[in-house]
Amino acid sequence: MKKIVVAALATVLLAGCSGAQYMLPQLSDADVTKALHSVNADTSAIPLVNRNTDETYDLLRRISNRLAPASQALCAHAQVTDCHFPVIFDNDDNVNAYANDKREIHISRGLLERLVSEEEVAAVIAHEMGHHIAEHVEETQQNVAIGAIAGAILAGAVLAATDHEGSAGETQQIIGTTMGAGAMVGQLSFSKDQEREADLLAAYMLKRSNYDLHKAGNVFKVLARLDAGKERSTMFDTHPAGPERVAAWEKAMAEVEASPDKLPRNQ
Ligand SMILES: [Zn+2]
Repeated sequence: MKKIVVAALATVLLAGCSGAQYMLPQLSDADVTKALHSVNADTSAIPLVNRNTDETYDLLRRISNRLAPASQALCAHAQVTDCHFPVIFDNDDNVNAYANDKREIHISRGLLERLVSEEEVAAVIAHEMGHHIAEHVEETQQNVAIGAIAGAILAGAVLAATDHEGSAGETQQIIGTTMGAGAMVGQLSFSKDQEREADLLAAYMLKRSNYDLHKAGNVFKVLARLDAGKERSTMFDTHPAGPERVAAWEKAMAEVEASPDKLPRNQ
């Protein structure tokens, strides 16, 4: 009984995962090792930038406007019709940015304070736009729903396996708690492939908007250094920040430079 339910659970979970829509840059161990060395080589302190409210809003508005034509081109390519992504400033200390189910992009003061250049901030916003354009939020919500169902199935399996004899109320509570845990697993983060896909789309958008990709990519080194320093950040609950991301950015830059139509290739 238990084996059958666990197998069914695995099938349901696998069905919920969706692969990347676009060809992703392939990394070798040597690429990652090289990126790791470049991250470790920089031991200087990460500077803190103070911008007042007007400067912050001006910066976010300028980036959002500059990226808009490029995001529309990628939306059209992906056949996505709703391509308006409001950028929201969260005035809190957390180092965080995310895309939500209202098609918004949130960026926190804590993260903005660690990004010196407009290019770095633009990279973060373009990355979150990439999640929207590739419909990662919708994919993940499906996974959360499937995770909740799978959690309920698992709870059923546990109850069946332990031959639980509780009151009706007790049984309900166990199922409720496990469903919540299942939903949390689905919601923890986007998949690694989704993150890499968002970075790839960001590279195309930044290039189309005439941003310097090298300067923009510095954000991934800053994040890798914050991660290595274990600076408290909710960003790392939702985004990978290791040398792999730095290495993948190098590959993405090369791909974008070589691309004749500046559009990502479908799988
Ligand atoms: Zn992301």
